[in-house]
Amino acid sequence: MESKPVLLSKEDLAKYPFLRETQEYVRSIGLTLEDLSDEVGCEIVDLAAERIRSAIGRRVRIELARDLDVEILSFPVSLVMLRFIRDKLLTRRYATSEGKRVTYFLRNEEEEKILYIVMRSFNWRIRRYSERVGPFVYDYQIYFVDYVPYVPEYRGMWKIVNKPVKDGWVPVTIHEISRLVEEAVKKYVESRCLSPPPSSAPELFVEKVNEIKREWEEAKAKMELPRVAKVDRPEDAFPPCMRALLEEALAGKNLSHSARFALASFLLNIGKTVDEIIEIFRAAPDFREDIARYQVEHIAGLRGSKTKYTPFKCENMRSLGLCRWKCRGVKHPLQFYRLMLRKGRVEYEELA
Ligand code: SF4
Repeated sequence: MESKPVLLSKEDLAKYPFLRETQEYVRSIGLTLEDLSDEVGCEIVDLAAERIRSAIGRRVRIELARDLDVEILSFPVSLVMLRFIRDKLLTRRYATSEGKRVTYFLRNEEEEKILYIVMRSFNWRIRRYSERVGPFVYDYQIYFVDYVPYVPEYRGMWKIVNKPVKDGWVPVTIHEISRLVEEAVKKYVESRCLSPPPSSAPELFVEKVNEIKREWEEAKAKMELPRVAKVDRPEDAFPPCMRALLEEALAGKNLSHSARFALASFLLNIGKTVDEIIEIFRAAPDFREDIARYQVEHIAGLRGSKTKYTPFKCENMRSLGLCRWKCRGVKHPLQFYRLMLRKGRVEYEELA
């Protein structure tokens, strides 16, 4: 499918820094590092730093600077800053924040513009399509080679095995296309931060880089501290994945089948009773005590094959979209729990 040409405004260039048009525009301005010392240059550096700060604070900056040139140029300058800082986690976090920002903007665009942007920037093969599969209405198909590298990391439902693929074409909605762009932008940002930094830079610029670096070190130090320093109650020893699932269950969220299995099997293996677990699931919107009891008893090995199940390993939790943490030295949620009980601390960090 050919995308229809779309006229891009300067605001579009500011919103979508990965566009070829934006890059050409940046090149045409010919900004150098030396230019960053003058008044406008300082504005650009400040905004570039602000972009990185938003990422450190896990905020998605959706506003645009009044001066669109400053906005446009702040993106490549932020990448140069990251090349100076050379911290993989910060780069990843920044990439995530920029990816989410792009998705936010895309969600408010006409379909024609979204298609133009993605097909021109990433050369994805997309064609029109129309099919309803369950509750989903798919208006497009994307060729699997262009789909697989951009599947969101923690979302099991995006896996190609869970999609009704036909002859290599994956059905997608326009919102899913926008979400794939988020991943593509992340990869784009990360790839642009790989090369070494320039050998020198103006003093003011270096000062700003050092300022951001200090802020990041402080944020990282807090992040890497164990969230639970002391185990007062058994729940304090839960790994973050299980704590999140428990909170969601108690808040009455509709957990997926694998999430319920993971939580129930974990709780059973640390000694909770079937009745206690049923109470936790009681808030679920589709709760039915007879079904919940049957399922929990099955997991406990009281029915059917009489096998008592253990929760998924960390690797599987991740591929099912149930884990977005990295727990140091841990391969299984139960191992986290036992380590916490024994040592009182396990370090973990949330992945960007
Ligand atoms: S790494 Fe393992 S224990 Fe830690 S949150 Fe993820 S699944 Fe849970």
